[in-house]
Amino acid sequence: MSDFFTANISEADPIVSNAIDNEVRRQTEGLELIASENFVSEAVLQAMGTVFTNKYAEGYPGKRYYGGCEFADVVENLAIDRATQLFGAEHANVQPHAGAQANMAVLMTALDHGDQILGMNLSHGGHLTHGHPLNFSGINYKVADYGVSRDTEQIDYDELERIAEESKPKLLICGASAYPRTIDFERIGEIGRSVGAKIMADIAHIAGLVATGLHPSPVPHCEFVTTTTHKTLRGPRGGLILCREEFAADVNRSVFPGTQGGPLVHIIAAKAVAFGEALRDDFKIYQQQIIDNARVLATTLSDAGLRLVSGGTDNHLVLVDVFMDGKGITGKAAEKALGDVEITVNKNTIPFDTQKPFIASGIRLGTPALTTRGMKEADMRLIGKMIASVIQDPESEEVKARVRRDVAELTAKFPMYPDRLKEPHGDAVSMS
Ligand SMILES: *Cc1c(COP(=O)(O)O)cnc(C)c1O
Repeated sequence: MSDFFTANISEADPIVSNAIDNEVRRQTEGLELIASENFVSEAVLQAMGTVFTNKYAEGYPGKRYYGGCEFADVVENLAIDRATQLFGAEHANVQPHAGAQANMAVLMTALDHGDQILGMNLSHGGHLTHGHPLNFSGINYKVADYGVSRDTEQIDYDELERIAEESKPKLLICGASAYPRTIDFERIGEIGRSVGAKIMADIAHIAGLVATGLHPSPVPHCEFVTTTTHKTLRGPRGGLILCREEFAADVNRSVFPGTQGGPLVHIIAAKAVAFGEALRDDFKIYQQQIIDNARVLATTLSDAGLRLVSGGTDNHLVLVDVFMDGKGITGKAAEKALGDVEITVNKNTIPFDTQKPFIASGIRLGTPALTTRGMKEADMRLIGKMIASVIQDPESEEVKARVRRDVAELTAKFPMYPDRLKEPHGDAVSMS
């Protein structure tokens, strides 16, 4: 095939190419408020789209099962060095394909099949991999869970201590996907040690805040720290494990050959680039702006009459109770109404939710992505008002038309990926 190494994707596969172009446009023209999403730099995107995808590099730098790994070693060593520096950790494994794989490898390291774990209740903000019955963590291990208290909607550390004493976990898991408050890793570390448990902190959501010192670090208090690299940390989709030197060999063995085969070297290269970006001074300014923006968004929503779970936020996300015991609309309806005006959010259960997870009483909003675009407090005020007006009048086409115009006007002021944004060229591409 003569054009195999030269043809552009727009010629080689117009259907996929068109979907990619439409996705660039969707991300550019909408307001992205999904708390677990972000926009990576052009440099990170370029690292991902490289010939490193061709390379098998099972093993670790200097100890590979394949020849030709000298440049794979360069990028993996860089990613490891930068990750340990960024988090002040003794050891880093940069190979987990995703956050779930990082957690699987740590559970395999710390536990035997059937051992007891203690994790945060999913409906109070925890994650599937912390013991959900349909996940490997709930299938292979005995699970106890802790949550937030009814009145403060914040983690009840005394209750956590009591449950830890009662359930005697071998691994205590902390960290969350939908928790808007600071997590007291020091206290959780003390509780874990007092019952003889090892501790895993999963900082998938708050890694960027932790890396810049804007959220207390779990690294001094926990044997294992896992994270995704694509949320506040703003790298490629992937996972990362940090641990003390004493667990380094076991963790490495649990990742490969324990739970994965060949590493994604192109993604590791992109992780190295992202960690390099995160080590720069301006990354801290970015993370502070994420927090400032979340606070203003929270205040604006609450001033407009919506109820915030836990009363506010300390981090990058806001959990909004849009159902308010039947006075408002469901999370599912809110997600749909906001989607109609190009504001992208996800429905989310709230603690002690009366609705099923697929309906939910809440929506989760996060500021990492819009902050990357350059938006600041004044923009958050506008967005908060837009969100409140849609939620409070979800059937009004007039409100929706107005907000759609406001979204278009605002997003136009914050361009992204100029070299990737193509003129619309119709969807009528077919293979026939
Ligand atoms: C997002 C998330 C994960 C999982 O990450 P994936 O890359 O989607 O597998 C794990 N733990 C927490 C707390 C998360 O928020």
